[in-house]
Amino acid sequence: KNISDKIAAGEVIERPVSIVKELLENSIDSGADTISVEIKNGGKTFIRVTDNGCGIEADQVETAFLRHATSKIETVADLTSISSLGFRGEALASVAAVTQTTLITRPEAEKTGRRLLINGSEVVENVPVGCPHGTTIIVTDLFYNTPARRQFLKSDSAESGMIIDLMSEMALAYTDIKIQFINNGNVLFATAGDSSLKKTIMTVYRQREYDDLADVDFTTPGFTVTGCISRPSLSRSTRRDQIFFVNGRIVKSKVIEKGLSEAYKERLFKGRYPVAFLFLETDPASVDVNIHPNKKEVRFHDDKAVELAVKEAVIDAL
Ligand code: ADP
Ligand code: MG
Repeated sequence: KNISDKIAAGEVIERPVSIVKELLENSIDSGADTISVEIKNGGKTFIRVTDNGCGIEADQVETAFLRHATSKIETVADLTSISSLGFRGEALASVAAVTQTTLITRPEAEKTGRRLLINGSEVVENVPVGCPHGTTIIVTDLFYNTPARRQFLKSDSAESGMIIDLMSEMALAYTDIKIQFINNGNVLFATAGDSSLKKTIMTVYRQREYDDLADVDFTTPGFTVTGCISRPSLSRSTRRDQIFFVNGRIVKSKVIEKGLSEAYKERLFKGRYPVAFLFLETDPASVDVNIHPNKKEVRFHDDKAVELAVKEAVIDAL
């Protein structure tokens, strides 16, 4: 059982950022409005995610770590939809298989909470504990029982860079949740959770000139495009600050990039790129996402329509 757990875990848990993503998505699914994520050493030695969500009932804490144990049946039925979070009830089992995991949790209605300690899928402690309502998961010593995998990890700063990118994107996608992010003891950002995209961008990216980004708010048959873009006076030499969401999910998309550059054509010098945080909403049936949870590729059934919608939305905003 242990070996198959480890093999399966390899598919989901490639690196620290995969763990942070799964834990953060669970916290979002829990209905929390406040979430804190702390990492150390690129997440290799320490990851802690705390939320004030629904918590887990005492008799469910061990079940949550079993493979294919999920309380989110509706989400699973809708696996192909781009909007579904979660991972078929495999995330916690996979994380626990390759780390030392501590779970501290209490539903708001319960007086006492529960603390569960798991070392490489073995439950070594399951005891009552006093704690705030919500859930904390602490993951230490990634791949401690699979040294070969540990060697494939990149440097601490490369691993933390990936987590910083993920945290930034998630903060933008969930502006209604207060998200705090701590890296090696430094608070990198703490969002207000007041649903303001501009304010969240300022908090997360800390670029003074982003205060002047233009708001995009455009609807055309089949599409709604919202977000913030730079005016032609501000541009970048890379696409680093171009972040796209389709139906709430972060994606990479040449088609959206094309729509953007079409809109800025003649307004920007060659080799310069606009800053763009764009949210596209469209019929989920007109979009294919790669089902693999760690990939971000998106395919539209009608590329030209998407390109045009983005182009028109941007021109409208400028
Ligand atoms: P999935 O998210 O696909 O259901 P996971 O392995 O990520 O599978 O989580 C297993 C179960 O543990 C979830 O279905 C949920 O019931 C519970 N759970 C995990 N994290 C949390 C959390 N932060 N708050 C409340 N419940 C949680
Ligand atoms: Mg999950």
